[in-house]
Amino acid sequence: MNNTSSTQAPSEGLYAPLKITAIYTLIGGLWILFSDRLLAALVSDPETLTRLQTFKGWFYVIVTAWLLYVLVQRSTTAIWRSGQALRESEERCRALFEQASDGIFIADLQGNYLDVNTSGCRMLGYSREEISQLNIRDLIPAEDQATALLRLDELHAGNTIISECQLRRKDGTLIPVEISAKMLADGRLQEIVRDITERKQAEEALRESEARYRSLTNDVLDSSAVGIFILDSDFRIVWVNQAMERYFGLRRDEVIGKDKRQLIRERIKEIFEEPERFAQKVLATYEDNTYIENFECHVLPDGEREERWLEHWSQPIRSGLYEGGRIEHYYDITERKRAEEALRKSELMFQSLIGRAPFSIWVCDEEGTVTFANQAALDLFGVTDPTQIIGRYNIYRDTTEDEKPLLAYFERAWAGEVVRYRQDLDMTTVKYETACRGTLHLYSTLFAIPSDGSQRSNIVVVQEDITERVKAEDALRQKVKDLAALYAASQVFLGPIDVKTTLETACRLAVEHFGLKMAWVGLIVEGDYEVHPAAAYGFEDGYLDSIRVTWDDSPAGHGPTGTAIRTAQAVPMNRIDTDPAYKPWRAAAMARGYRSSAALPLLYGEAEVLGVLNVYSAEPDYFTPDRLQVLQSLANLAALGLQKARLREQEQRYAAELEQRVAERTAELGEVNAELESFAYSVSHDLRAPLRAMQGFAQALLEDYADRLDPIGQEYAHRIVAAAGHMDTLIRDLLSYSRLSRAALHLQPVSLASVVADVLTQLEGELRKREAQVTVEEPLPQVVGHYATLIQVVGNLLTNAVKFVRPEIQPQVRVWAEEREEWIRLWVEDNGIGIAPEHQERIFRVFERLHGIEAYPGTGIGLAIVRKGVERMGGRVGVESEPNRGSRFWVELPKVKSKA
Ligand code: ADP
Repeated sequence: MNNTSSTQAPSEGLYAPLKITAIYTLIGGLWILFSDRLLAALVSDPETLTRLQTFKGWFYVIVTAWLLYVLVQRSTTAIWRSGQALRESEERCRALFEQASDGIFIADLQGNYLDVNTSGCRMLGYSREEISQLNIRDLIPAEDQATALLRLDELHAGNTIISECQLRRKDGTLIPVEISAKMLADGRLQEIVRDITERKQAEEALRESEARYRSLTNDVLDSSAVGIFILDSDFRIVWVNQAMERYFGLRRDEVIGKDKRQLIRERIKEIFEEPERFAQKVLATYEDNTYIENFECHVLPDGEREERWLEHWSQPIRSGLYEGGRIEHYYDITERKRAEEALRKSELMFQSLIGRAPFSIWVCDEEGTVTFANQAALDLFGVTDPTQIIGRYNIYRDTTEDEKPLLAYFERAWAGEVVRYRQDLDMTTVKYETACRGTLHLYSTLFAIPSDGSQRSNIVVVQEDITERVKAEDALRQKVKDLAALYAASQVFLGPIDVKTTLETACRLAVEHFGLKMAWVGLIVEGDYEVHPAAAYGFEDGYLDSIRVTWDDSPAGHGPTGTAIRTAQAVPMNRIDTDPAYKPWRAAAMARGYRSSAALPLLYGEAEVLGVLNVYSAEPDYFTPDRLQVLQSLANLAALGLQKARLREQEQRYAAELEQRVAERTAELGEVNAELESFAYSVSHDLRAPLRAMQGFAQALLEDYADRLDPIGQEYAHRIVAAAGHMDTLIRDLLSYSRLSRAALHLQPVSLASVVADVLTQLEGELRKREAQVTVEEPLPQVVGHYATLIQVVGNLLTNAVKFVRPEIQPQVRVWAEEREEWIRLWVEDNGIGIAPEHQERIFRVFERLHGIEAYPGTGIGLAIVRKGVERMGGRVGVESEPNRGSRFWVELPKVKSKA
């Protein structure tokens, strides 16, 4: 503006006089040119014309003078006005210059300051005069000078150069400024300097806030475990964090900018267990974006993502850039869900475990009030509505007098003990309305569990209904008792007792075992239908005399007894007082206090009925099937016992007869035997006298008549002597064998060692002749025996041991003993000819010999004496042998029992 007015003023000054001159010339010229012609055309009179010419001259002067005045006056007014405007403009400029908030500096082309406004002075802290002494370079630090200064080409080209640099204030501090430099029309340099300290600070603050924001989104929100969607007001996805990519299996670059609604329908909803519910819930928030939505959703696993439980939480964005949009958070609550699930399961488990347990379980708190009861407990309490018990029943307040002692158990449980006890409740007297009648048996366990906060713990009461078990146990116990009774009965019946005792025992056992009033046995006999009472026990009081029982078809035979006999079945009569079948006997039975009875057939074998066992109880309905069964077993046992006793009695009769006959025979036999033995003995004895005479005379013949006898006669005489000698031995052996049978042996401890030693001494000559070697192995213990007999036994065995050895072989005998439990076995082993197994038994009989007398002389009685002698001492003999391999004979005798 300033520039424009100053450049146009000279041309305006030149133009105005030119315009005036031109207009004056034009109008004057036109007047001169056309006024004479017009006058001549109008006026033809020359005089008038001349006169008019004068007027015309005057008119011309006046008009042109007036015109000149108007033109000059307008021009001078315009010039004045323009000067006035210029002045005003300059004033305004100056004021602007002075009042500008920016510093304005005017400098010459060398950079020397010419002028500066107030703001400039204030900005740098100099006065106007001080600045006019300075050059631009004094204010701009050296490092900024190149950028901020002296881009003169550009300035000359008329460009405005805007640059930022620092200026040094008078106090030396630097301030940031923006300088706008321009070349003025007069060639001076104008710099408008703005203090940008605040702007710089604001920029810095902005940069910091941006950095913060970036850090917030990139470092914090993006790495947050909470999934975040930010939607603009069109519900397009503006931003989504990494967690979201992971949770939904999305890629950020694929979804940013997309319409979330479309994305939900096309992709997102499918990842959920309940896609429609999810879509519907979230899309509703876009329909009405005013409320906070919050729900749980279940992401199903896929290649891109894991199974996860998320909590959706969204709310409208109410301000800022995305106002009208929505922010959606997805919290990963998988762990919590799993924990909840585990908890739910364990809770469920707990509930079904406790709830359905076949034991009653209830809990009371520290004050004794029931706080929990399972179904079984409610059943036990006899209530259907839990609130009748839970929170209401108190063990101190509601316990009956009978139950008071149980409180002590609770106190013990509170003291920390696990208390167990059995409780037998008579349900007819207790308060509960249970279905159970009779006695209820409970097994209770009490223990404390911690209660939160309170001083005392809660008490858990577990009660097991053991009624069935107790009943079963009772039944079992009864069965055992029954069996024991039956066993005892069988023992008695199998013992040596007679018929009467058998039947009495059956009655007694029945009465005692079952606590009956009376029992009797009636027998049937061939030939009539009467039932003959044979034994009774208990309170009979002439009952059996007062009644008559038959088992025929008459009315008297149709009572329980008759029926039992005919049908071979137990017949109970549980109501004597009313049962018409009992009419004939009722009065007598009732008079004696019998209220129920049973008739049990005495069954022998399958179907043979020997009689009947009748039992009577003072209680009506006493004879239950169980009891009848036991009684029937007893009756059957009694039948068996009866039959056995009958047989036994018969047998005893036979045995007595037999014994009588045997005794008679034995006596006869003894006499004959004794006669025989004494005969044999006397014969043997008597035979020896003539034998000795024979032997003596033959000997005399040899000695006194040797010279008169030819050799044959001598030979005969020798043979007579030898035969007589042999006969003598034979008779002696027979005598000692026979003596062994008859003599009474007094048995006592005998030392085998001394027996063997004595025998060896006796046989010394014989052994030496055979050059036999006898080895005796110690120890040889004591046995119970008879010394002289043992000498004979051992002597015979040793004699045989050295005799039955081939002549060319030296006899070797070994003697030893061994213990065998209660026995001592003495062995005599030889190296002789041995004995074939088939002969080993018979050699112990009298006269049994395996060899001719020439080869091995003998009588065949030696081993018979051994056996007889050992047997009479209560022992045994035997041999182990094989032909040609020697023999081992043994004798076994009782050990001497030590007195200790
Ligand atoms: P004797 O010795 O008088 O012939 P025994 O009664 O002692 O009569 O013996 C019966 C038979 O048993 C003997 O004839 C002999 O055949 C056989 N015998 C007995 N002891 C032995 C033995 N130690 N070795 C082989 N045979 C024997």
